[in-house]
Amino acid sequence: MPWLAIPFSDLQAKKSLTQRFRIEGIPSLVIVDPSGVPIQTEGVDLIYKYGIQAFPFTPERISELEEEEKAKHASQTLENLISSHGRDYLINQIGEQVPVSELVGKTVGLYFSASCPPCEKFTPRLASVYHSLKQKNESFEIIYISIDRDESGYLKCFQSMLWLALPFGDETVKSLLKYFNVQGIPTLIIIGPDGKTVTREGRNLVNLHLELAYPFTEAQISLLQERLDEEAKSYPRSFHHIGHRHILNLVSASSGGGPFICCECDEQGSGWAYQCIDCGYEIHPKCVKELEIGGDEENTVRTEDQLRA
Ligand SMILES: [Zn+2]
Ligand SMILES: [Zn+2]
Repeated sequence: MPWLAIPFSDLQAKKSLTQRFRIEGIPSLVIVDPSGVPIQTEGVDLIYKYGIQAFPFTPERISELEEEEKAKHASQTLENLISSHGRDYLINQIGEQVPVSELVGKTVGLYFSASCPPCEKFTPRLASVYHSLKQKNESFEIIYISIDRDESGYLKCFQSMLWLALPFGDETVKSLLKYFNVQGIPTLIIIGPDGKTVTREGRNLVNLHLELAYPFTEAQISLLQERLDEEAKSYPRSFHHIGHRHILNLVSASSGGGPFICCECDEQGSGWAYQCIDCGYEIHPKCVKELEIGGDEENTVRTEDQLRA
């Protein structure tokens, strides 16, 4: 680091600063104004989002930047997102150029991905959703936005996809990462037929609803959510899942549930879940392993009531 430091041995200063600013995780960057008053506690996010532009980090400067950002998003079109530096095309699986203009008016998924295990797991799922939407002739396309460092990783990933891609190493990638504040992969951002962002939760929605999530609009998602809530009425309140030694309890967003990573399939989830509060173990209702009662004792699914009986 090209700046100053508190001596390593000064544990007292470290402790009191940590307490004073209620630091719970790192990296953490607190900005203090010239008079010593802390003005920003989310410095890391601000640097991610705005870089040098965030200086001098005053609330006025940040709201100025937020206004600029809002205006940018309000005037967003697919073409001004994707085309740049004189490139107005994408490439398809056989290396041909496809004009960006051909995608205008469609629902488009921006798929930020690379050759990494979570992406390799999610891509086949997305591919099957893509395939079935294409079979239904839906006006849907996906663009692979690679953050692979080397071209061989890029090619390997792209081979497993059925859709279009930005060329390898394209400069637009960096600005898209920043613009959408992408902090992890895989990320799927859905752009509507009008060129505006529909949702940044594409990955989660694909995991939850597969192709039924299409066109990913709020109306469609609340319809599916109502259906899930209806279905959940018939779920057992607790479950003895074969993958966990404690009883799991059914939770929803309004009863202790929230966004989670499923311990069974390693994918994101939200809303309804089976949870062991003691262990922090949480899984999708669809990932509960149900085996026939009366089978092998080790692999038998039992509800809490049955256990009591
Ligand atoms: Zn799962
Ligand atoms: Zn447990």
